[in-house]
Amino acid sequence: MSVRVVARIRPLLKHELDKDTIVCAESAEGQNPTTVRIPNPKNDAETFTFQFGSVYEENATQQQLFENEVVGPTVKHLFNGYDACIFAYGVTGTGKTHTMRGGKSLADRGVIPRLLSNIYRRCRKIEKDAAGATQVDVSLSYFEIYCDRVYDLFEPPEKRTPSGLPIRDNHGKTVVVGLKEMQCSTLKEFEHLYDQANINRSTSATKLNAHSSRSHAVLCVKITQTTESTVRVSQVSAIDLAGSEDNRRTDNNKERLIESSAINKSLFVLAQCVEAISKKQSRIPYRESKMTRILSLGQNNGMTLMILNIAPTRSYHLDTLSSLNFANRTK
Ligand code: ADP
Ligand code: MG
Repeated sequence: MSVRVVARIRPLLKHELDKDTIVCAESAEGQNPTTVRIPNPKNDAETFTFQFGSVYEENATQQQLFENEVVGPTVKHLFNGYDACIFAYGVTGTGKTHTMRGGKSLADRGVIPRLLSNIYRRCRKIEKDAAGATQVDVSLSYFEIYCDRVYDLFEPPEKRTPSGLPIRDNHGKTVVVGLKEMQCSTLKEFEHLYDQANINRSTSATKLNAHSSRSHAVLCVKITQTTESTVRVSQVSAIDLAGSEDNRRTDNNKERLIESSAINKSLFVLAQCVEAISKKQSRIPYRESKMTRILSLGQNNGMTLMILNIAPTRSYHLDTLSSLNFANRTK
């Protein structure tokens, strides 16, 4: 089991071009950056530094992040039969959805569509090399966790039960009862399912008078490699986490407070699990929240990648600092 934590600093957006930039990436000479530097909010002359496995600056492309952090380490691992988990963590507006889902153009595609494209290519190659003796199947489930309730994103919002889907333990594995698992054998099919599910995500949020940034979106991709004598199953989960901002500071509306405390708790447990995995502790508190329980985080996950998304401007100062402190705890 291993954990890698990287930071990604997004570029200034159009309306931010005149804003004060306070975050910078630093590197040893001739090396890629691994350090983030940020001023002390109480005293600009003093700065704090945070170390990462790697730091992606504003001009880093989707392709670079994917090639460096996902292809080699994760996809290879996956086809060897291990599990993997990829999280995007950060405040709303810092680039989590951009990193995981990305934009429409080929260059803008995020980790998830690139991952699926890569997986399908490998499937075809394995099948071809084995001349029909190996079959590789891909299936997907996609759900969101909102206020600690699980909703299937492959179901239209009007079919939802307000209390969400129950979860149950079944032979030591946690299962979401009634969650759809979709066989999906081509990239085109995937894109269609994924786009529709993302529409379901935002329309259901609108219905609840919420925002989709207040839920965790979890995509699980199961790969089954079957030969005459063996079946090998592995799974990669890619998670666009709920915004990590603490709304208790600014918003005391009751619904938002319930959302916030659910989000805070699940992110707190996530940090504890990632920390326990990275410190190779024997007890991983994955049963303490629904998300970590469903992912069985640290039980059979070969690799965990956490991408910490950061905005560079002063308006995010306190939230950025708390994100950086969060990531620091997980090492
Ligand atoms: P989040 O999901 O964390 O709330 P988004 O992914 O929606 O944040 O990003 C907020 C805005 O910033 C969006 O308009 C997005 O297109 C833009 N953005 C984020 N990261 C990048 C990036 N690396 N390059 C260009 N634009 C980005
Ligand atoms: Mg988002």
